[in-house]
Amino acid sequence: MGTFTIRQYGDPVLRQPTREIDDIDARVVKLAQDMIETMHAAPGVGLAANQVGVQRRLFVYDIGDGPKVVLNPRIVESSGEWTFEEGCLSVPGLSWPIVRPKEVHLVGIDLDGNELSIEASEYLGRVFQHEVDHLDGTLLIERLDEDQRREARGILRARALGLSEERPAGG
Ligand code: ZN
Repeated sequence: MGTFTIRQYGDPVLRQPTREIDDIDARVVKLAQDMIETMHAAPGVGLAANQVGVQRRLFVYDIGDGPKVVLNPRIVESSGEWTFEEGCLSVPGLSWPIVRPKEVHLVGIDLDGNELSIEASEYLGRVFQHEVDHLDGTLLIERLDEDQRREARGILRARALGLSEERPAGG
C-alpha cells in the first residue's frame, strides 16, 4: 500500500473526464487500495481517481462505516433539493453551501465485478454527486452560484500568488 499526492485546483487532470474500466486487474485493485489509504490519511470522505492523477472512472468513499469502491459509477436518477456545506480535498480549506439534488440513484460495479445499485440521500447522496462530478472533470467551483464563484476565484487567485495558507478538509 502507499499514498498518493492529491492534485490541487489548477491541475489540468482535474478538468479531464476519466475513462471507463473494462478489466478489473491487479493494477485497478492496487489503485483502489492506495486511494483508500490516501483518503483516510487526508482525511476525507471520498476520493476520485483523477484527484490522484489517474484518468480512470472509479472513486472510493468512507462515511464512517468502512471504505468502499465504485467502478464506472453513473447517477441514473436524482430528485429533491438539499443544501449542504461542501468542501473538496483538491480545493483545501474552503467550503460553500451548495444546492444539489437530495436523493440520487447510483449504479456501478464493485472490485469483484458485481453490479451496484445504491439509493442515497442527503450526506451519502452528496458524496456520490461530488465524486461523480470529479470523474466527469467537474469541480465544485462550477456548482457555486455567481456570487460564491466570484468570491472563490478571488481567494484561489490570492492563494496562487502565495498570499494565504489554509488547511485541508472535504472529499
Ligand atoms: Zn472533491
